[in-house]
Amino acid sequence: MKNLAPKLTADQYEKNFAELHPPFTPNSATAEANRCLYCYDSPCMKACPTHIDISTFIKKIATGNLKGSAKTILNSNWIALTCAKACPVDVLCEGACVYNARGEDPIQIGRLQRYAIDWYFEHGMPPLFTTKPKNGKSVGIIGAGAAGLACAAEAALLGFDAMIYDANPKPGGLSTWGIAPYKMMQEDALKEVKLIQSLGVKIQSGVRVGRDISIQEIEQKHDAVFLGVGLGTSSRLHIPGENLPGVVDALDFIEKVTTRNWQSVDVGKRVAVIGAGNTAIDAVTEARRLGAEQVMIIYRRTRDEMPAYDFEFELAKSDGVQFQFLTAPSRILGSDHVEAIECIHMTLGEPDEEGRRRAIPVPYSEFRIPVDMVIKSVGQKIEETFLSQIPNLKTQNGIVWVNQETLQTSNPKYFAGGDCINGGREVVNAAADGKKAAHGIFEILFPLQ
Ligand code: SF4
Repeated sequence: MKNLAPKLTADQYEKNFAELHPPFTPNSATAEANRCLYCYDSPCMKACPTHIDISTFIKKIATGNLKGSAKTILNSNWIALTCAKACPVDVLCEGACVYNARGEDPIQIGRLQRYAIDWYFEHGMPPLFTTKPKNGKSVGIIGAGAAGLACAAEAALLGFDAMIYDANPKPGGLSTWGIAPYKMMQEDALKEVKLIQSLGVKIQSGVRVGRDISIQEIEQKHDAVFLGVGLGTSSRLHIPGENLPGVVDALDFIEKVTTRNWQSVDVGKRVAVIGAGNTAIDAVTEARRLGAEQVMIIYRRTRDEMPAYDFEFELAKSDGVQFQFLTAPSRILGSDHVEAIECIHMTLGEPDEEGRRRAIPVPYSEFRIPVDMVIKSVGQKIEETFLSQIPNLKTQNGIVWVNQETLQTSNPKYFAGGDCINGGREVVNAAADGKKAAHGIFEILFPLQ
């Protein structure tokens, strides 16, 4: 890459990527837990897709029963540490806390959850659950992200042999490879993996289905197959210059940063990120923290339509990110490397079929922004090529179709969950799906129990 931002010192990188929300001390955790009103029929629990019994786990923290607290959390959610650190709590549990209606700060549920789960890992993961006797059936799970891990853990508790096949060198999916280090580090995701392995789940890492093992082989080896494959292919911009050196995909960029091998991650002095979702915000904020001098988001609609959460937007603003709203890229310019991006001003028209106002180009309004690096973050699509190898697997509107009760797909041997069935939601949704699918598999294979 040309015109790179100068490398920082090791200390500067560590400072820039230090955790945004440090853990509670024992005293502060107890004090916060004691603020909870332990509401009957608590709205925070309803707002959590995994329906953790939040008031109960908080009460156990208040009484010093941290093992019991961890058990309450993990009983509903196997991916509890990732969720504690990376969930958009402002719009889920904490957003629903009754304190908001009183004009007071909500209970810090995410940090309390982290406190209990950190304690559990620091104390060597004492056994919490009893697995059912082996039921003689096995589940093959494709993908070691949140959905796959949750499905495997729950299947193991139900007495299945569970085997995960994952293409990455380390398991954990986006928890390991796709979360900004100032929110969560790879080591945390790997602790969750270790917990799930402790239940007897086997994981084959570095195994790409379709390359190293065929889907037919997996089908023959197992009584049911769970697809926790997420979304694969990044969407293209479909504009000239997209393949120039210096144009990179946001997930590839974020993946490099998760390794914390700072010196190996190149960033341009002037960086433009195309898109305005949470991934785009992670990429632009990381670029800034790696030393880019000028960073901007280019988005064709306005702040009101931006998919990123408010707290992500505020974080980016506080890092000095500029926002170029009502702007769409039309060309990326450069001879042998990105030198500028040509954009066009947009205006908003009538709502489209999804209810979002259409972005319409303003004629003759093109202008250029000099940049050294372009990061694309305009969404992902499911891996059609891979999924087409599974007979009778129905996809609909770009996602895998499932029965919502059991998460069984149109091919009765296959179940699915996470981003491949919802188009890309939160890790907590994937965790909920994985657990639900394991019970769906049990229901279908043992209908009379
Ligand atoms: Fe506690 Fe708030 Fe949940 Fe009520 S809504 S139980 S106060 S965290």
